[in-house]
Amino acid sequence: MQTPVSFEFYPPKTDEQRSQLDRTAEKLKTYSPEYVSCTFGAGGSTLSFTSETVRHLKQEHGFEAVPHISCVGGSREEIRELLKLYRAIGCKRLVALRGDLPSGMGHPGDLRYASELIEFIRAEHGSHFHIEVGAYPEMHPQAEDAMVDLKHFKAKIDAGADGAITQYFYNPDAYFHFIDAVRRLGVQVPIVPGIMPISNFSQLRRFSEACGAEIPRWLGKRMQAFGDDAEGIREFGADVVARLCERLVAGGAPSLHFYTLNLAKPTQAVLSRLG
Ligand code: FAD
Repeated sequence: MQTPVSFEFYPPKTDEQRSQLDRTAEKLKTYSPEYVSCTFGAGGSTLSFTSETVRHLKQEHGFEAVPHISCVGGSREEIRELLKLYRAIGCKRLVALRGDLPSGMGHPGDLRYASELIEFIRAEHGSHFHIEVGAYPEMHPQAEDAMVDLKHFKAKIDAGADGAITQYFYNPDAYFHFIDAVRRLGVQVPIVPGIMPISNFSQLRRFSEACGAEIPRWLGKRMQAFGDDAEGIREFGADVVARLCERLVAGGAPSLHFYTLNLAKPTQAVLSRLG
């Protein structure tokens, strides 16, 4: 497969997690990713972990490392400082998101939506950063309806985003319909499917409930039937996700972005099936 790939990591907080990320980064390096990205924690609580991880991935592993940056709960001044820091580290690319406030946290911040964050980044830094935004083929869980959500997505592109990465999904039609719908609205930027390899089904079910990603009934039932057979789940999951990737690429997906959860094996299992 000649399709470019990128990998997403979360910022490790302990020495053990840091060693795990190093091992994973070494293994996934062989796939020559276009870039690797690093998430932030809800409400900005782990911002320094993100910047440290980005620096580490650049300097120690030689990746193009891309921070996720959010506006929720932050002031313009805090975001301004963070952008300066990322520019000083040498970042040329960002994944810009609204983020979510942890429950019980009060102040929403100076910028309410990702579109406002993108306007802010463009106003402060012109075209220095290549900006990716989030896209939701199965609709953002808080959106009033799918059409309104599509218009809000378009607002992020109109504000100056260069591309988008989707929330993960297991039904390729959700992606293809999303692409058709946003192209009809005049959105031309590349929209890269986010791919979640399957390794731990109960964890996946929890994530999916939180982020509004659907696990198709047939897939859930097959997974449940494996019971405690972790190896069976991994093998079957890798087959399913590899087939999904094949269909996405055949249908025009420009590249694939893997949510690695800092583990190499589940992503490798998919990529090895794709050759
Ligand atoms: P927005 O695009 O701002 O949209 C959020 C909601 O507001 C949507 O329902 C939208 O329809 C609505 N909306 C937008 N504009 C308006 C408007 N003008 N008026 C009314 N409603 C509006 N979370 C993390 O905590 N850390 C991460 O690192 C992280 N990385 C992610 C990476 C990707 C690729 C994706 C897809 C998601 C990621 N998330 C992450 C999750 C993300 O933070 C949440 O989904 C969050 O709820 C929305 O962020 P957003 O940038 O998509 O928001």
